[in-house]
Amino acid sequence: MANIRKLPPELVNQIAAGEVIARPASVVKELVENALDAGAGRVDVVIEDGGAKLISVTDDGAGMAADDLSLAFTPHATSKITTTDDLFNIDTLGFRGEALASIGSISHAHIRTRKPDETGGYEITSSGDTTEQPRPCAAAGGTTVTIRDLFFNTPARRKFMRKANTEFGHISEQVTRLALPQSQVAFSLSHNGRTKFDLPAVNSTAVRVKDLFGSSMAETLLPISSRPGPVQVNGLIGQPSAGRGSGKWQYFFLNGRFIRDRILTHALREAYRGLIDSNRWPVAFVFIELDPAEVDVNVHPTKVEVRFRDSQAVHGQLLAALRETLNKSALTPAAQIESPSQFAPASEDHGQTQRRESLTEALADFFKSAAPAQSKLHFPPPSIPAAAPAAAGEKIYAGEPVETIAAAPASYSSQAVAPAQQAQTAVEPAPQIPTGRSAVQMHNSYIVSAEDEGIMIVDQHALHERIIYNQLAQRLTAGGLASQRLLIPETVTVSEIESDTIAENEAFFTRMGIEVAPFGPQTVAIQRFPSLLTNRGVSAGEFLREMLDELSQGPISPEIMLEKTLSVMACKAAVKAGEKLTQAEIDNLLAQRDQVEKGSACPHGRPTTLMLTLKDLEKQFKRT
Ligand code: ADP
Ligand code: MG
Repeated sequence: MANIRKLPPELVNQIAAGEVIARPASVVKELVENALDAGAGRVDVVIEDGGAKLISVTDDGAGMAADDLSLAFTPHATSKITTTDDLFNIDTLGFRGEALASIGSISHAHIRTRKPDETGGYEITSSGDTTEQPRPCAAAGGTTVTIRDLFFNTPARRKFMRKANTEFGHISEQVTRLALPQSQVAFSLSHNGRTKFDLPAVNSTAVRVKDLFGSSMAETLLPISSRPGPVQVNGLIGQPSAGRGSGKWQYFFLNGRFIRDRILTHALREAYRGLIDSNRWPVAFVFIELDPAEVDVNVHPTKVEVRFRDSQAVHGQLLAALRETLNKSALTPAAQIESPSQFAPASEDHGQTQRRESLTEALADFFKSAAPAQSKLHFPPPSIPAAAPAAAGEKIYAGEPVETIAAAPASYSSQAVAPAQQAQTAVEPAPQIPTGRSAVQMHNSYIVSAEDEGIMIVDQHALHERIIYNQLAQRLTAGGLASQRLLIPETVTVSEIESDTIAENEAFFTRMGIEVAPFGPQTVAIQRFPSLLTNRGVSAGEFLREMLDELSQGPISPEIMLEKTLSVMACKAAVKAGEKLTQAEIDNLLAQRDQVEKGSACPHGRPTTLMLTLKDLEKQFKRT
């Protein structure tokens, strides 16, 4: 056993490469970062066969002198930091000095470079464990790094490479992330001889976004900009009505570096809550500037995650900037976005939402005229088939939502046939609604209620979300979520990594009432889905997409995963801001509030209720 040996340097480099170089896109990232660090005004990226055959990055930056070039492939050789202090004041994209050494150890690499103010250039090759001495050559000002046969000597890694188009997709996404904060740098990207994009240098983020994503997206964007402070936030965000089906169009940058950070995504979700349909994601390009000493970027090998010294300040400043723009731009909340009469169906999803809502309204009208609205609150008899259509009139159920799968048809018929309805009333009394309470809905979003101690204002979405969250948590403790088999399984296109993720989390999904099975190449089918969500018209496919996006953001603890899932479920199943409620639904929501009396904050910590006490009122009106 006791036979400790020092690893040969080429093996050390290969191990380091495993951390930084997961796939061709990682190579592209490192090389483009080096080009940007060298002050390039133009970066051209050429790819063949998804990067397996060729990756070439050319810049017109500072270039390298011969003795620098001879060190370029040496591990921990960098021109960017010299002291520990530098490590906490990083203003370059790279700093570890291990990228080129790593890449050189697992490919046939070549660099040709010339400093712009010198006449001759130099080239150097590195291949596996051998690096040659630099040789003089003719070269344009700047640097071209060419990587051929990536992973040629690490067959395990090579096996992990996906189809050329998949790898190129990752490369394109990487270049996009690098090009967005650097609009003053021209970028081009091509694959197998075809140009994917060719972006001029412009000095305007808005123009860069338009050049990358097209003018139809760019037109929906609103500028954000924070008040002055140690944390500066600028950027562009999508109008709520232009939400997307996934979070793919949310980009966050810290001091010009793309990052992923839960605190930032959380602030974004907060700001749009109630403004956007819960299965839509706002588009966002957010640029945060912060004293580099206030953040540690050295916590993740590819620097995509960071640690803020004062994350509260960052969250607050972003949220304030978002809210200011969203309030100012006079966008009426989801009321307008979702109301059938005012929103022409722009897509499949909206068509569906509309149909659901018109049905909801039609049923609501029927009940209003036909019978005391209260009868809507009852559970259906258990004999109703579980797969009954989801067009339930009820948005808020008196009981546990899972039991009310067939609530609409049941109460519909019980309404029509008076005796049956009466019988039901006798068996299933409605929850106690405190007497003397009169409540009305306002702006289809808030419920205002007279209470003994004053006037209460409830955010209907936030409160309902909280209630459902609690119910889901209770059900889970009691075993699992009830689900129903989908009559028509919903198919979802997934990447190979995502299909692995599904397989790894199978037990978790099952407990959540979700059954997903393979269904042909790159496709899975959702066979079972929680009744609660189906009833509220939530698309199983979109839900799974959202979960996969969440899970693909890196490892998370089981607790956070559970919390996330329940939050997403509750949010999707809850009534939205902008949904009209019947009197019975209003009363019922308040009755449930009284039961779930942690109802002061929704799962994400947003308040559900405001109370204006009689004392407050007297003070405000200067009666005392
Ligand atoms: P790091 O970027 O962390 O310093 P790298 O291994 O990526 O480490 O690069 C090593 C060094 O090579 C850099 O510090 C820089 O001096 C030099 N270098 C790499 N790429 C370029 C380039 N495109 N232009 C000029 N210098 C470069
Ligand atoms: Mg580097």
